[in-house]
Amino acid sequence: MRAVDIIIRKRDGYTLTAEEIDFFIQGLVQGTIPDYQVSAWLMAVLLNGMSHRETVDLTMAMVRSGEQMDLSDIADFVADKHSTGGVGDKTTLVVAPLVAAAGVAVGKMSGRGLGFTGGTLDKLESIPGFRTDLSVEEFRAQLRRVGIVVTGQTAELAPADGKLYALRDVTGTVDSLPLIASSIMSKKIAAGANGIVLDVKVGDGAFMKTQEDALALAQLMVEIGQGVGRRVRAAISDMHQPLGYAVGNALELIEAIDTLHGGGPTDFRRHCLVIAGQMLLLAGRAADEEEAQAMLEGLLDGGQAWAKFREWIAAQGGSVEHVDNPALLPAAPLTRQVLAPRSGYIARLNAREVGLTSMLLGGGRSKKGEPVDHGVGIVLQAKIGDRVEKGQPLFTIHANDQAQLDEARHRLLAAYAWSEEPVTPPPLISRIVG
Ligand code: URA
Repeated sequence: MRAVDIIIRKRDGYTLTAEEIDFFIQGLVQGTIPDYQVSAWLMAVLLNGMSHRETVDLTMAMVRSGEQMDLSDIADFVADKHSTGGVGDKTTLVVAPLVAAAGVAVGKMSGRGLGFTGGTLDKLESIPGFRTDLSVEEFRAQLRRVGIVVTGQTAELAPADGKLYALRDVTGTVDSLPLIASSIMSKKIAAGANGIVLDVKVGDGAFMKTQEDALALAQLMVEIGQGVGRRVRAAISDMHQPLGYAVGNALELIEAIDTLHGGGPTDFRRHCLVIAGQMLLLAGRAADEEEAQAMLEGLLDGGQAWAKFREWIAAQGGSVEHVDNPALLPAAPLTRQVLAPRSGYIARLNAREVGLTSMLLGGGRSKKGEPVDHGVGIVLQAKIGDRVEKGQPLFTIHANDQAQLDEARHRLLAAYAWSEEPVTPPPLISRIVG
């Protein structure tokens, strides 16, 4: 078999066999297939898609590229969650310690920024010392000791996803249903959780732009997970505007810290409670959504989720001093508050533009392996449905230099649409699948 023939077959619209997919995934992990061939194959998959069977085969080949953890000797039930990617989506930073505080073990493999969306690992690495490259042994030991662990792909865990993810980020091959489904589900299956809640984003700040595509992705991932014996649910959630107010690595971490103290933006807190609630239901820890919500609100407002967060950060080598005092976290040298150019109701706030602007400020990557700037980003002061008067604060930009700041201001102002009439914001979660 030759990699080039597999690329040509996918380019020409043929369905690949399980052997061809396996050969390709093994080759990319062993380094016998170079990045340029992998990139060409990714583009062929993006353009021509994959059948259901090909996607399942790809997912399982990616799982087999590394170890598949069995956590049954550590906890009766391990819960996990994963987002398909959004702007301002810092949900894991709150949900993981919140669910762990409820007594359900959380073991999770997260990702870095992808395209215009941010990544949990980049946000966590705003904390000096925080490690995201745990070995399988370290993962297991921390899950046993602390009841919560969040790491990245390593040579041991889903290495194929690590390689594909980094290439997709910089080759315009992110927004493909089979590539997203296999990327997420290979990590989830390899990490060994019994119950998985998928947060499938829909809107212009997500990779799935329509409700139909989001539903198809949700159903496919639920089927893949259930097919290997996992309990899986998917929530279809809004990404027509950023989640919460902060977009940018340390800025989002700070917003998550506020939320763990019982504050934070209303939409973000609500979203976290719903996702965490689904995890408790899968774990059998609550009888119904009402009971789950009451328990979780108590843990957020009573400080137990925050205490678990501190324990988690310390366990992974992060500086607790920095999360106790977020003023110590990385910050951009320039900030500028931009005022509303007119009065009216905000009718649209293009999340993709906000994500792209944060990337351009340095918060994301344009080349494989590039470092990200943890301090830059945007903090919104108003969102869809809000009434704003001319001259009222609209958003604040955190940047490294004046030229970037000016460009960001232009882009962001163009991301808003206004209405004279009241506007209803899109529903936060439109559907639960599974
Ligand atoms: N999250 C992932 O882990 N992979 C994707 O492809 C998209 C979001």
